[in-house]
Amino acid sequence: MPVQGSDGLWALIPLVGTASSMTGLTIGTPAPDGWKGWAAHHDTVRDFGDDPALKAEMERLQAELAEIEALGDPATCRICGGPDVTIEHAPSQASGNRGPLIGQKIDPVATRALGHVVWMKGEVIGGSVVETLCVRCNNNTGRRFNPAYLAFEKVCRPLARPEAARALCSVRVARRPLVAKQVLTWIVATSHPGFTARYPMLRTLLQKTGAQGPIAPLRLWCHLMANGGTTWYSGITPKVNALRREGHLMSSFASSPLGWILTIGNLEIEGAHDVSSWTELDKRAKPVTIQLPCQWRLRPQPDDFRSRQEILAEAAARAAANQ
Ligand SMILES: [Zn+2]
Repeated sequence: MPVQGSDGLWALIPLVGTASSMTGLTIGTPAPDGWKGWAAHHDTVRDFGDDPALKAEMERLQAELAEIEALGDPATCRICGGPDVTIEHAPSQASGNRGPLIGQKIDPVATRALGHVVWMKGEVIGGSVVETLCVRCNNNTGRRFNPAYLAFEKVCRPLARPEAARALCSVRVARRPLVAKQVLTWIVATSHPGFTARYPMLRTLLQKTGAQGPIAPLRLWCHLMANGGTTWYSGITPKVNALRREGHLMSSFASSPLGWILTIGNLEIEGAHDVSSWTELDKRAKPVTIQLPCQWRLRPQPDDFRSRQEILAEAAARAAANQ
């Protein structure tokens, strides 16, 4: 369920890239007034109103998200809480985020008026930027963490391709805590305010290069992206398992060649590699080889790894069933 965060839900597709992956993007009807989530699956939308347990679980998640958001101030730095936020590229320009891009964002007014999710589309010149970190945090995180992230990206780029979809790829990764801290910086920068106030270990980890420690109850997951030229920010978004009537909050930052999901609580992301322990390592920890699954990221839902064929086949089957 994509949620409209304070910055909206952005899907950024570079003009040279995989714009076709956006066609056929449909999301179900909006949730009742005052709710921030939109159910992603038609069956869930249908069941939602009739199922008190499902509704209660969604309300619980909305309250959890509201609690996080209430701890922060949108005008202050998402990492340190200080004033004077500045414009920052996410991902960095060195990662290829220089634009032009086509950006899409949920239009909250039209969505509510029309009863289905409406996307605003626009060209983004000069790469995708956010304005959520102060000058100091922006400079410090970029200088300390970005070189390690760029090196990891360089190793992953030739492996992350359509032919590798669903396969496990052996990837050598060095300076793991710094890689994790870079992606956590972007997740925090593109998520709701209050995230680091609610989970202060994020603040410590991102402000001090040498800081080590667990991120529990958060977990960080990584995968390669089979589709190139795509960036997704989700912000903190609720995901509800309709069968188990159990939900969790998660956030995601994906930018080819790497996709990342941050989950809150006891939620397994099937098809992604758990790298939560990277923040517990010393920054001098030796490089290791890991097995990263390569997944499609064609849809805004962070853990929707379906291929284009699967998305179209499911849509066709649903249309046939509804006739
Ligand atoms: Zn700051």
